[in-house]
Amino acid sequence: MTLVAANRAELTELRQRVVADTTGQVAVVMTMGALHAGHAELIRQARKRAQAVIVTDFLNPLQFAPGEDLDKYPRTFDADLQLCRAEGVDLLFAPTPDVVYPDEEPLVRINAGPIGDVLEGDSRPGHFDGVVTVVAKLLHLTGPDLAYFGQKDAQQLWLISRMVRDLDFPVEVVAVPTVRDSDGLALSSRNMYLNSDDRASAVALSRALRAGQAVASSGVETVMKAAREVLDAEPGVRVDYLSLVTPATFSQVDPEHRGAALLLVAAFVGTTRLIDNVLVELDGG
Ligand code: AMP
Repeated sequence: MTLVAANRAELTELRQRVVADTTGQVAVVMTMGALHAGHAELIRQARKRAQAVIVTDFLNPLQFAPGEDLDKYPRTFDADLQLCRAEGVDLLFAPTPDVVYPDEEPLVRINAGPIGDVLEGDSRPGHFDGVVTVVAKLLHLTGPDLAYFGQKDAQQLWLISRMVRDLDFPVEVVAVPTVRDSDGLALSSRNMYLNSDDRASAVALSRALRAGQAVASSGVETVMKAAREVLDAEPGVRVDYLSLVTPATFSQVDPEHRGAALLLVAAFVGTTRLIDNVLVELDGG
């Protein structure tokens, strides 16, 4: 059974009830709602290790800049609850902004640091401060041993892992590989915005990443060129950035880089902004 908490008092009471039944670990999966099979995979991975799984369903205004899609972001609470029930979630915490931010916007926040200002952070100023601040709050509120995040949002995953290490949060961050549609498009709540032409164009993102992956042994320049060519060939796609970074530091690779790298793309398809990434092995070929 999935219990539902909408405020702090309910969360405290229901969390206790859920956790009282177990001596095992507690996991959290944080989401902004509009749940899909990617979220379901995080829940399934969490259930493999944890005795109790808490899902948070919170559309966090702090991580949206003015003019972004906060107002039109899909809200599908009934379907989200159904998915949580089907996946055996123990507790769904679905607060409104006034519950999470009772004093309105927090005056004291966590700063995501320099990696919070590049790539997604460069295109979306303040975004990652909003992300790490709400993640810190939700970790305190839900008190998990394990926290599951998707590789789909690679920079977010990196920053949260780093926050947990840098600030000694007593939680283990677990990464879950990206879940894709059969044609390769990474699942995202924002895919709901795509009309059929957009949907056809959007597959160019994952195709571009795979094209880069396919020539990884030829080095950085070749990878970037192969991916860029696929994106340039798709008129429905406007690239925001295409970048190759070192997974450990999230800094731009140098042209001679060998070993693992993350190839990341952000692009507008119509008015919808999508992101994706893959790991490439620049093995020296
Ligand atoms: P969101 O609701 O988009 O904020 O995502 C909540 C969590 O689900 C984040 O950890 C995301 O990285 C993860 N997630 C979203 N889409 C996918 C996907 N296609 N595959 C795996 N994880 C995902």
